[in-house]
Amino acid sequence: MAAPSVGGVRLPKGSGETIRLPRGASLTDFADKINANPASLVQVLFHLGEMVTATASVSDEILELLGQEMNYRVQVVSPEEEDRALLQSFDIEFGDLGDEDALAARPPVVTVMGHVDHGKTRLLDTVRKANVREAEAGGITQHIGAYQVPAELEGVERLITFIDTPGHEAFTAMRARGAKSTDIAVIVVAADDGVMPQTVESINHAQAAELPIVVAVNKIDVEGANPDKIRQQLTEYNLVAEEYGGDTMFVDISAKQGTNIESLLEAILLTADAALDLRANPDMDAQGVTIEGHLDRGRGPVATVLVQRGTLRVGDSVVAGDASGRVRRMVDEHGADVTEALPSRPVQVIGLTSVPGAGDTFLVVDEDRVARQIADRRRARERNAELASRRKRVSLEDLDAALKETNTLNLIIKGDNSGTVEALEEALMKLDVGEDVDLRVIHRGVGGITEGDINLAIADNVIVMGFNVRAEGKATELANREGVEIRYYSVIYQAIEEIEQALKGMLKPEYEEVELGRAEVREVYKSSKFGTIAGCLVMAGEIRRNARARLLRDSRVIHENLPISSLRRFKDDVVEVRDGYECGLTLGNYSDIKVDDVIETFEMREKPRS
Ligand code: GDP
Repeated sequence: MAAPSVGGVRLPKGSGETIRLPRGASLTDFADKINANPASLVQVLFHLGEMVTATASVSDEILELLGQEMNYRVQVVSPEEEDRALLQSFDIEFGDLGDEDALAARPPVVTVMGHVDHGKTRLLDTVRKANVREAEAGGITQHIGAYQVPAELEGVERLITFIDTPGHEAFTAMRARGAKSTDIAVIVVAADDGVMPQTVESINHAQAAELPIVVAVNKIDVEGANPDKIRQQLTEYNLVAEEYGGDTMFVDISAKQGTNIESLLEAILLTADAALDLRANPDMDAQGVTIEGHLDRGRGPVATVLVQRGTLRVGDSVVAGDASGRVRRMVDEHGADVTEALPSRPVQVIGLTSVPGAGDTFLVVDEDRVARQIADRRRARERNAELASRRKRVSLEDLDAALKETNTLNLIIKGDNSGTVEALEEALMKLDVGEDVDLRVIHRGVGGITEGDINLAIADNVIVMGFNVRAEGKATELANREGVEIRYYSVIYQAIEEIEQALKGMLKPEYEEVELGRAEVREVYKSSKFGTIAGCLVMAGEIRRNARARLLRDSRVIHENLPISSLRRFKDDVVEVRDGYECGLTLGNYSDIKVDDVIETFEMREKPRS
C-alpha cells in the first residue's frame, strides 16, 4: 500500500473511492472507515492548520478537506438520509403522502407558542374543555400530548389538532430531529403585556419552519389591555394584521373567560385553507411522528403518535424510533378506545416493546419481523454512536498540549416522559461555561435507571440524571460498587443549576501570581559553607523562607523560580523578614548575584471562578 507522508505522518492513501460518513462524524469514525490510526488523522489536520481532537465531531468541511488530502471522496450523510437508506433497504419510502388522486383533506395540526405567562396553557385548556363531547367521554379529558377539537367554518364542521405541549421547546426539539409535527403556529401575546423576548423567539422558530402564523391576542378582559398596540408591535416582525392590509389573522381573545375561542378556531381553518394544502392518502399503511412517550406501570410503554398519512389500526405492526411492536390498543384524548386513526389524528398506542422518543417517526410495516429488524438496526446505530463518543482517547504524545482533549462531562438522562427528557437535554446543551469544558449526553431515555445505564456510565465523568424516576433493580447496588454518581431531580432548573456547577468544578484551576515581597541586594558574600549569600534590604512586603523568587537586574528578569533556601537576620535563622529590615539570604545553589539586583518573591494563588 502506498504510504505517503504529510508533515512526516505516514498514512494509507485512497484512490478516489467514496466513503460515506454520518453528519457529525469524528476523525475516529473516519479512521475506522479507512483502517487508519485516528491519531495520524489528527496530525494530518494539524498540518493543514486545523486543530481537532480524535473523538470530537467535526464539520462537513473538515471531513471533506481531510478526504481531499487523502484522496477519498467523502460523502456526508445526515442521520435522516442514513435512516432513509435503511428504510429503503426494506422497500419503505417514508413521508410519501400518496398519489395525487388518492389524497384527501386532513385537519391542520397546531402548536401554541408565546411568552411565559401570556396564557398558552390556559388557552389549550379552554379549547379542550369547550369542545369535550361530554356524552361520549363522560367529561374526562386526559393529557396525552395532543387532542382534536371540532370547529365550524361556513356551516361545515371540521377538526383541528392541537399539540398539547405549550411553548416552542418541544417543537424545536422535534424539529431538530427532523420531525415535522406542526402545520400552523398560534402565537399567544398578552394584550396587557405586549411583545416579549419569547414572543420574538417563537415567531422566529415558526418562521424558520415556514409555518403560517395566527396571532391570538389574549387577556383582553384585563383592564388596560391594548390589542391594537400588539398589532402595531408585531408589524416589526412581518406579521401585519389583515385589517391593516397584511395577511396575518389576529384574533382578540380571553382564554380565561372563553371569549372569541370560536373565532380563533375559524381563523386557524381559514389560514390553513389560504396558505396550505393539507391532504394525505388515508388508504395506506400509516406513518407519522411520535409526540410523547412514557412507561406506564400497568400498560407498559405508551406512546402518543400523530398519524400523518394512511390509517393506523389496532393489530398493525409498527416501528417508532428504535421501539417496535404491534398496536394492541389505541386510546384517544377522552380515554376511549379507538380502532382506526386517520391522518392528523393523535392517539395513544399501547403494545410497543420500549418507549420511543418525542420526534421519533413511526411507521406501519407488513410484519412484526420487519418492525423488529428496523428497530434493531436503529438501536445498533445509536449504540455505535454512543460507543464512538465513549471511545478512549488516543494518546497524542508528540503533539502540542493545545491538542489535548478538553474536559468532557458525560451525562445519561433518564426521565418519566420523553418530552421532559428532550427539554432537559436541550436546556443543558445550551449551558456554556467556557471552551475548556464540554458537555455531552451519551444516552437518554424514558423509564427508571437500569443496570444497562450504569454499565454505560462506567467510564470517566459520567453522571446519571434521574428526572422523576428512580434506579430500579440492582442498578443502585451496581452504581455504588462502580462509583457511578446518580442524581435525582424533579425540578428542571435545579438540574440545570447543579450541572452548571459541576461543569465549573471541572474547569482547571486558574492561578495568578501574587507578589509577596521585594528586596534589594546591598552586598554579596561568598561562603564556603553556604555558597553565595546576598545581603539585602527588604523594600516591600516580606521575604519568607522557602518562598519562590526571581532575580531582576536593571528591571530585567535574570532568573525565574529560585528558592529562598536560607534566610538570616544577623546570625539567626528566621522564617520571615519584613520591609525596612536587613537580611542575608541564599537562592539555592544560584551564584550569579550582584549588588543592586532585586529579588522578588511571589506565590501562585488559585483564582476564584466567578
Ligand atoms: P403560559 O405560561 O403562557 O402557559 O401561561 P398560563 O396559561 O399559565 O397563564 C398565565 C396566567 O395568566 C395564569 O394565571 C392564567 O390564569 C392567566 N390568564 C391566561 N389567560 C388569561 C386571560 O385571558 N385573562 C386573564 N385575566 N388571565 C389569563
